[in-house]
Parts: sequence; C-alpha cells; structure tokens
Amino acid sequence: MPNRKNKLEHKEKHRDLRFAKLSCPRCKSKKMIRFAWESGAELECTECGERFDEEDLLTIDDPSNILTVKEKLAFVRTFKESD
Ligand SMILES: [Zn+2]
Repeated sequence: MPNRKNKLEHKEKHRDLRFAKLSCPRCKSKKMIRFAWESGAELECTECGERFDEEDLLTIDDPSNILTVKEKLAFVRTFKESD
C-alpha cells in the first residue's frame, strides 16, 4: 500500500491536532503515547497499557470494534497456523 504510506507522511505536521481528540478505546483515557516508524504508528495508553494502531483509532468510529495490537497479532498468528 505505497499510496497510503505517502499520504500518512504528508500529514505528519497535522498529527498532533488529531491526536488531541483521541482517547483509549478501552478506558477512555486521553493519555496516549505515540510510537511511530516507517510502516505506521501505534498509540499506547498510559492508563491501561494497551496499544492500538493509529490507523484504527482514526478510522474506526466504534471503540468496541477496535482491537489492541496484541489481539490483532494473536488473530494473525491463528490465521497463519491454520494455513
Ligand atoms: Zn486505556
């Protein structure tokens, strides 16, 4: 998904504004720490310690539909093992 990646990089300067609105899908805390690398970014909640994909927080409206990074990895692993 090269196009999507470029789009994210272009938005870099505006990210802080968007994050001000984000809160943890699990405990509703707004104390989220952002970890970013080339392929994307994750936000870690300082209250409950869960990590979420930035993309999920920005695109999924219903917090109950957002999986933690751990949950997503577990899901992918299950998928691979059954392959
Ligand atoms: Zn939390």
